Order: sequence, then structure tokens, then C-alpha cells
Amino acid sequence: MKKFDTHVHSNHSHDGKCAIGELARLASSRGIDGFCVTDHCDFDLEWGECTSAFIWKKLDAPKYYENYLRAKEEVEEVKNGSLTLLFGVEAGFSEKGRAGEKYAELIDKYPFDEVINSTHCVKGREAYFADYFLFKSKQKAYGDYLDAVLMSLDAPYPYDIVAHIGYIMHGAPYRDKALRYEDFPDKFDAILKGIIERGKTLEVNFHHETVPETGALKRYFELGGRAISYGGDSHRGEIGEKFDEFATLAKNIGFEGYNYFVQHKPVFVPFD
Ligand SMILES: [Zn+2]
Ligand SMILES: [Zn+2]
Repeated sequence: MKKFDTHVHSNHSHDGKCAIGELARLASSRGIDGFCVTDHCDFDLEWGECTSAFIWKKLDAPKYYENYLRAKEEVEEVKNGSLTLLFGVEAGFSEKGRAGEKYAELIDKYPFDEVINSTHCVKGREAYFADYFLFKSKQKAYGDYLDAVLMSLDAPYPYDIVAHIGYIMHGAPYRDKALRYEDFPDKFDAILKGIIERGKTLEVNFHHETVPETGALKRYFELGGRAISYGGDSHRGEIGEKFDEFATLAKNIGFEGYNYFVQHKPVFVPFD
């Protein structure tokens, strides 16, 4: 079975460690057939009236593209088609401000294979940090997050993948951090149906906890959702690390394969 990772960070992300060429070498050594670099673009923090407890480095898009092209050339020389290197971006959604226009401009300017639509900010605050949760019950903090994910489906720019539904869990101070389908069935249904209706792909993300959790994935399948992607979301070169776990989980639910993207067109990879 071909292994494609659609969510990988290089050192063009504030929290990424490896150069794109280095990622290509690591991917090959791990038996990965292809991956898409999807560095962070945080116009939500820059233009979207959102604040963060920590200020992150901005994406240098011209340099990112230049380094991608250089790495791709190297890969083609050395690997002769055995590794596919693709170009993408992870766009942090904001329902306010000028972020939407800025993403539309960026996506128009560069020949991205894939755009990941991610919700990191909720009601104007980056939800990775503890301050987002101050004085909020889990129900309120997670409910508002799911509302923001739902809004992100109508982002005013083209995107392909809806990322990591469950990102909120990482910074949460609650003893039981799990974001379960059964606790928010209406909100989850609206999101999952929204993804299906819009023809988008739901990412299964392995950065921290596996998200969305199995109950939500099962429900997506039950509602008719078939488009999923594997998002390792690696920041230190651990590309495709949990791919086998992904394939087992998805096959057990009934999925027959998964997508990666070339020039925004889904390429379906069947499971063996
Ligand atoms: Zn993210
Ligand atoms: Zn990411």
C-alpha cells in the first residue's frame, strides 16, 4: 500500500525542526511514498483579530516556495520518481478580520497542491495555551471550539482538508480531555455533514492524541463520508510514523482507502 502523509512541518514553521530536503531523506528511509509539506500560515493571528499567549514566527512564503522547489529538484535527481514531494500550507482559520482575504491572495499566488484548513483560534484566542480555558467549563470551551470548526467550513478561500478536529484537547486543563462524539452529537453532525456536502476531506491527525476520536470517525462513515487523509503532523521529521495505525483504524471502520492531493485534486489510495 502506498503511504502518503498529507500534513508535515518543515523548519519554515515556527515549531518545525527539519529542512525540506532533510524531510525527503527521512521519508525515503522510512518507506514513505510521498508527503506534502504544509507549513503554518497564521493569518488568523496576524490579520484575524486573534491573540496568542506566545507570538509565533510568520511564514516567509517566497523562501518556503523557493526551498520547496530546490528540494523537489534534488528529490527528482536522487529518487527518480520513487518519492513524491508536494507543496501545501496549513491555514489557521479566523472568522474575523482580514485573514480570509489574505489567505485567498496567498493561495492564488502559489501553486499549492493542498490547503489544510485548521482551527487553532477560538473566539479570538489561540486554544493551544491554558489562558483560553480560564473560567470555562469543558462543555463551554469544547462547544465553542466545535462552533469555530463549523464556521471554518465556510472559509472564503479554497481548501482541501479539514484538520485535526480535537486540537482543543492538547492544551486543556481537564482531567478527562477527550473530545467525544457522544458529548456533542449535534455539533459533530453539523461539521461532519458539512465536510461531506462540501466535498472536503476529513483528516485523521496523529500529532498528539489521535483525532477525531473513533466515535466521530465512525459517525462520519455512517453519514456517508468516505474522504479521509492521513496527517502525521510531524514537526521533527517523524513523517508517517503512525501510518499503519491509521490504516488499521480506518479499515476497521470500513474505509477502503484515503486521499492525498495534487493541485487540489484528490488522489485516492486504496488500502491493501
Ligand atoms: Zn494545526
Ligand atoms: Zn500542523
